[in-house]
Amino acid sequence: MNFECLFCRSTEGLILYESCQDYFLGKPYIVDYYRCAGCGLVQQFPIPKNINEFYDAYPIHMNKSIFHRIMQKIVMAPVYYQIEQPVTAKVLLDYGCGNGWFLGTLEGQGMELIGFEPDSTHSSRIETFSAFQIFSNLDLLIQSYKGKVDILTMHFVMEHLPNLAEAFSNVTQLLKPGGIFFFTIPNFDSLESRIFGKKWHNLDPPRHLSFPNEKIIRMLSGQYGFRWLRQKSLPFPNGFAGSIPVLLSGHFRFPIFLLMLPFGIIFSRLFPNGIHGYWLVKEL
Ligand SMILES: [Zn+2]
Repeated sequence: MNFECLFCRSTEGLILYESCQDYFLGKPYIVDYYRCAGCGLVQQFPIPKNINEFYDAYPIHMNKSIFHRIMQKIVMAPVYYQIEQPVTAKVLLDYGCGNGWFLGTLEGQGMELIGFEPDSTHSSRIETFSAFQIFSNLDLLIQSYKGKVDILTMHFVMEHLPNLAEAFSNVTQLLKPGGIFFFTIPNFDSLESRIFGKKWHNLDPPRHLSFPNEKIIRMLSGQYGFRWLRQKSLPFPNGFAGSIPVLLSGHFRFPIFLLMLPFGIIFSRLFPNGIHGYWLVKEL
């Protein structure tokens, strides 16, 4: 099959990594990554048809122990949206809300907090242990909240989506004019990605479909009526700490990851370019 970019449709791509395996969940998919010669987007090609199967038993969706929650706070807080005080936003939507942890951190600040998870089994499971309304039907979400959302966050979602333009179009429909769109994406051109290559934890094949960089985000942002606020590198220790177990043992192992976490924290503070955060504003 000939390469076709999932963003600009160019048919010229340079192969970056061949035969990447799933070191994290051990799913039986072997995928290749290309860099599009047209727009530069790093992406899987071809993308397997049944991408939903990548997520069976995906651990971030489970309700986690108190230990996990404390760790999540230390590790995740720098890469999650920091809400400005005093809070003036009325509605916050966490699109791809995982286990609802981020929404949980915002309780009691007077905002209406809603989540979105495409799998209905996941979304109803989150609803059983949280007080938030979690949508799994995108049409219903857009119908109910069109033009009503003040802040829309996508933490580690964009790299999972097969259609970036569609994602931006959905977001622009949901946000109020002047609303904030915040999202994070692993940086394929980071130091940690270059060090670990195919074993880089945040490559996460087959789940990570593409790695849009600033150039792609600027194009999408202009096309879908967003004003650029800022882009920033954010420290996230998992890239380093999650790659070491794969390097040592051939697959992800949680105990080694935990042991490596302090080193990951130091590494990600010294070289904080593993993750990029983007802040956009929907034009008035
Ligand atoms: Zn392209």
